[in-house]
Parts: sequence; structure tokens; C-alpha cells
Amino acid sequence: MTRALNPRKVGVSVYCASCGQRKAPIGRSVPLEMYLCDWECRGYREVPLSGSLWPGESEADFGYPVNDDGTEIILVGDALAD
Ligand SMILES: [Zn+2]
Repeated sequence: MTRALNPRKVGVSVYCASCGQRKAPIGRSVPLEMYLCDWECRGYREVPLSGSLWPGESEADFGYPVNDDGTEIILVGDALAD
């Protein structure tokens, strides 16, 4: 099963309900100087769930399909073009 990668599906900031920190994207390497909530926090596995994308990064940029956690669909202003 394949589908096109969506350039309008982008990551958003997800904040942990337990520690209040922004959550690290799942499976991504985080620079040491960034203090993000990660797997060591019990809240990381609870809602709101983080996704795999960095904020502002699109599924197409990432290069792999991602689920809907921690993402939003950007509506570009061409919907009225026709
Ligand atoms: Zn946390």
C-alpha cells in the first residue's frame, strides 16, 4: 500500500500534559541542547501524542508517510483559484 506524501501535512508543537515541555518528535534525534519531553517522561506516551515530524516540517519533506498525531493540514490559499 502506498500513497502520495502530503506536502501540506506538517508537524505542530505538542506539549506534554505531565511535565509541560514540548514533546520530541518520535524516532528523531534531538540535539542535546534542546530540552524536550521524551520517553523518560510518563506523559510522553499519553495524549496529546507527539508525531514524527518537527514543527513546520511536512510529510513530503520527511519522505515517509506519518500518522495524524502531532500534525495539521495546511490549507494554502489557492482553494478559490478556480
Ligand atoms: Zn513530559
